Amino acid sequence: MREILERALGKGREEVIYGETASYIPELGRVDKNQLGVCIYTSDGKKEAVGDYDVRFTIQSISKVITLAVALERCGFYKVFEKVGMEPSGDAFNSLIKLDLSNNYPYNPMINSGAIAIASYLTPIISFKKMLQITRRLCMDDDITLNTDVYLSEMNHISRNKAIAYLLESKGIIASGSVQESLDFYVRMCSLNVTAESLANFGLVLARGGIHPETGEQLLEEDVVQVVKTIMLTCGMYDGSGEFAVHVGVPSKSGVGGGILSVADKKMGIGIFGPSLDAKGNSIAGRSILRTLSKELNLHIFA
Ligand code: GLU
Repeated sequence: MREILERALGKGREEVIYGETASYIPELGRVDKNQLGVCIYTSDGKKEAVGDYDVRFTIQSISKVITLAVALERCGFYKVFEKVGMEPSGDAFNSLIKLDLSNNYPYNPMINSGAIAIASYLTPIISFKKMLQITRRLCMDDDITLNTDVYLSEMNHISRNKAIAYLLESKGIIASGSVQESLDFYVRMCSLNVTAESLANFGLVLARGGIHPETGEQLLEEDVVQVVKTIMLTCGMYDGSGEFAVHVGVPSKSGVGGGILSVADKKMGIGIFGPSLDAKGNSIAGRSILRTLSKELNLHIFA
């Protein structure tokens, strides 16, 4: 296994020069794009990790998986999907074109409009502090904290997400007067510091239907996990989700901090950190690593 990981990492490393770190949040632009790490946690309890698997970076959009899961548990399926769809958008994560012109609802919970809508459902019923505790439990990582520099940097460059939130408010998707609070919650969740290892841990929880691999505790309901994994497969890799599903076939969610969370169902959780991004916002080396791992470990969902 270690050899396969090393090989996948080496191949992924060749891609790093073709990508760039996210620049629209200045603090993310300052990250060293050459960092690369991967961690695998298998259902028989084995963990392997290579490269920068223990370096902290912000979870960004991968937090959308957590907020969706919590919202499904606390608000229920009907409430969550009453005004947020389940379809891939085919647009960038922060697009508001279709939301305004052709579709009155956000396409899915994995893009900003859907996640901000869901944040607005959660803010009245759950505190950020509680969300942080849940995140730590799901990632089996008590050292997850808020990255204040990234949080502030993002709050200072919030115009686009603000535009999305006000559009959602104008359409009655989020309650009037809840824009600031929802955005703050959303950005805080994006600014949590994780590692590739924390993502592999969370991935294994999802792969095991919500069960903690060490204690056997049911951390998330099984039917919630099923919905989450399905939406990760269809919408988790931005507007590159279809191609990724064909080539890799493993439910995954990426973030512009360079992380990818992948769930090889029943088999393993995979966490990746590689902040050099492709044009769609996915870790360019991470994509390559997952392609190699999918092939070598036979992880494709339809293999
Ligand atoms: N906080 C980022 C934003 O809203 C998340 C983007 C991402 O990772 O897709 O712009």
